[in-house]
Amino acid sequence: MEISKLPEFDNHELVSYFNDSETGLRGFVAIHNSNLGPAVGGTRYFNYKSKEEALRDVLRLSEAMTYKCALAGAPHGGGKAVIMANPKFPKTTKFLNAFAGQINLLKGSFYTGEDVGITQQDVNILSKKSPFLIGHQNLAGDPSPWAALGVFYSMQAALKSVFGSDKFYGRSFAIKGLGKVGYHLLELIYKAGGRDIFVADIDKTVLRKTKRCFSMVKIVAPATIYKQKVDVYAPCAMGIDLTENNVKDLKCKIICGGANNQLAHNKVGDSIYRRRILYVPDYIANSGGLINVVSELRKGGFSRKWVIDKTKAIRRTTQKIINLSKKLKKSPDIVADLMAERIFQKSR
Ligand code: NAD
Repeated sequence: MEISKLPEFDNHELVSYFNDSETGLRGFVAIHNSNLGPAVGGTRYFNYKSKEEALRDVLRLSEAMTYKCALAGAPHGGGKAVIMANPKFPKTTKFLNAFAGQINLLKGSFYTGEDVGITQQDVNILSKKSPFLIGHQNLAGDPSPWAALGVFYSMQAALKSVFGSDKFYGRSFAIKGLGKVGYHLLELIYKAGGRDIFVADIDKTVLRKTKRCFSMVKIVAPATIYKQKVDVYAPCAMGIDLTENNVKDLKCKIICGGANNQLAHNKVGDSIYRRRILYVPDYIANSGGLINVVSELRKGGFSRKWVIDKTKAIRRTTQKIINLSKKLKKSPDIVADLMAERIFQKSR
């Protein structure tokens, strides 16, 4: 497999494969661009079907981190790690220690923390063996509530733009994926007055818990959640949620969610735009998680106030992208990409 020939390669600075036969640890680290500073990006622990699927995922995810850092005003580049989960090799302390060893080989050019499949407990274990972890329990902690809060602020900007009011009361929502981010988002929407809420998850336990705590939610099948006739669709599961094929079935007015890499590719953003649906670029909406963890790397040290202020600013950034998209008559994802590229490309 020639990595640089993959469509996801996009001039990555570093792609490294690790394979520890003793613990069964296998996966990739990728650094997309470090013009703005050392790369940051969570680690995903996921049961990939193949090595190629894992590689393509890490490339897409690390590239998105470069764009996310640029528009969040974080002095960092984009990176990511993926671990190929295998039930034969459980995520033991020894397994995680082997992963910490891999991170240490990069000598601080890559900092990592939680993503799908990696918990606060795992970060605690990894931190004992590596100084290059972010999102420590006694400092920034779990990024997911902050990722959800950023999505919530982005939604406010999108609601205001489409309906003239940022109120959640009286609006309808569909949330795909009720994990760390999706569940927090549901809580925020509910607290803000949203009641007409459809949800979907592949995990029955999660659905039972959700129904117990939010009896008014309507559970629908994962395959149909994106087709609900709602004001806002929030993809909060895995990536590649929106494709040329399924965009024609969308019946929402706004797409704004926490999942990374929601669009299969750029053309999908254009198709959504042509259908007059407002798409908030995923890496802007979910950047609260990044903001929370990189606060630990600030010169002045971790500051909760800095995190709160910067997460609130996501609403302004979203508004700016929406306004520019209207002015330039280009889809918001294209506008956001151009803005981010201007920031990270000129900084060298
Ligand atoms: P998670 O694993 O806690 O939750 C994902 C949820 O989606 C799970 O409940 C899972 O059962 C469900 N799911 C998976 N496939 C599904 C499908 N096909 N249909 C319906 N539900 C499905 O992960 P998370 O941390 O909440 O992350 C969710 C997304 O948000 C990911 O794309 C992640 O990269 C992104 N993100 C996470 C953070 C963070 O801080 N955790 C920050 C920014 C972005």
